[in-house]
Amino acid sequence: MAVHTVASSTSASAVDLGPAAALSCRECGHRVPLGPVFACEECFGPLEVAYDFSAYDTETLRKRIEAGPASIWRYAPLLPVPEDVADKPNLNPGWTRLVKADRLAAELGVTGGLYVKDDSGNPTHSFKDRVVAQALEAARAFGFTTLSCSSTGNLAGAVGAAAARAGLRSCVFIPHDLEQGKVVMAAVYGGDLVGIEGTYDDVNRFCSELIGDPAGEGWGFVNVNLRPYYAEGSKTLAYEICEQLGWRLPDQIVVPIASGSQLTKVDKGLRELIELGLVEDKPYKIFGAQAEGCSPVSTAFKAGHDVVRPQKPDTIAKSLAIGNPADGPYVLDIARRTGGAVEDVTDEQIVDAIKLLARTEGVFAETAGGVTVGVTRKLIENGQLDPSKTTVVLNTGDGLKTLDAVAGTGLTATIRPTLDSFREAGLA
Ligand SMILES: *Cc1c(COP(=O)(O)O)cnc(C)c1O
Repeated sequence: MAVHTVASSTSASAVDLGPAAALSCRECGHRVPLGPVFACEECFGPLEVAYDFSAYDTETLRKRIEAGPASIWRYAPLLPVPEDVADKPNLNPGWTRLVKADRLAAELGVTGGLYVKDDSGNPTHSFKDRVVAQALEAARAFGFTTLSCSSTGNLAGAVGAAAARAGLRSCVFIPHDLEQGKVVMAAVYGGDLVGIEGTYDDVNRFCSELIGDPAGEGWGFVNVNLRPYYAEGSKTLAYEICEQLGWRLPDQIVVPIASGSQLTKVDKGLRELIELGLVEDKPYKIFGAQAEGCSPVSTAFKAGHDVVRPQKPDTIAKSLAIGNPADGPYVLDIARRTGGAVEDVTDEQIVDAIKLLARTEGVFAETAGGVTVGVTRKLIENGQLDPSKTTVVLNTGDGLKTLDAVAGTGLTATIRPTLDSFREAGLA
């Protein structure tokens, strides 16, 4: 594959993003050349990356993946990135552990095999490193020098770190009242971090304005004008889960929903593996998980609606607190088409689920992981998730970033440094 040097965003035809062939509209199928655009000029539908995989032979591809690096770049032939991506300075995220969660399974009554895909192990401790790594390659290809985003917290840290590593400037925008762990994680890499007085949805609107303004010129917003590329990173969750299961599809998978992008791309990744012949073609169900305090998609699902009505978020699961989720309607389609569901849990159930996962499996999840584990439990109780089937639950972030959620957890006892004092505490 030829490697081109691209000087500016105007020479889009020379862009080398590997197997990515064009952008195509999810609604009307209209195709445009690869570029920093995200909405269809014909119908305003979202653009997504279209590939040419026609030259791949299943066995050769499988071997090439298996011989690849222990990161998302083992799947470079299926991503919008240049072939030599692993040699460039980036954070090499992914290939996180798939934990066989037998003790959690026993607690929840799952007999068909329960797994936790633990993305807290990524370089900035959330799944966001997967998506930012794609956006970074697109930013390099289009000649952007500043990396930016609107973030509910985790994305800000992932962008700051990726930009630092790549030697780009970063300037990211967050709601001003996020958890301290996320603010520090975002600031420490030395980029600019701007708190906005408002919700995530206000931050996002602000960024859309900035893109159209001279002040934002030369800026790559990973989740706005680079969104088609960014979103593809979530496919790697599906690829890794199947490869780690021995190139098998799970029967059921529980995915958290913020904008809904991750869930739609997990589905896209599974379908690609089937089409490429890397896994057997059999049905799977995708379940979406939200917090009750920000549940626009689960509310629509349960009401049987196709339209997602925006909400004003109020939940401890701040990384999922998007009241007007861009991919909400597509999530509804996927949950219904695959026979899955979308469910939500209260903040109290989120905290209980964080503690349950920690005490059964030694995995400390952020609130988003409490949402998926809590929703899994609820779906089993409701009879919507089949406990006799292989089930994968995503944990997308690290509990150290949301310590406030488990603030009541602490010392069992405080004693003097004597054996007598220890015996008195009744712990012997
Ligand atoms: C961003 C994020 C998600 C999912 O986001 P989508 O916008 O739905 O793709 C899930 N978990 C965590 C911890 C996140 O930060």
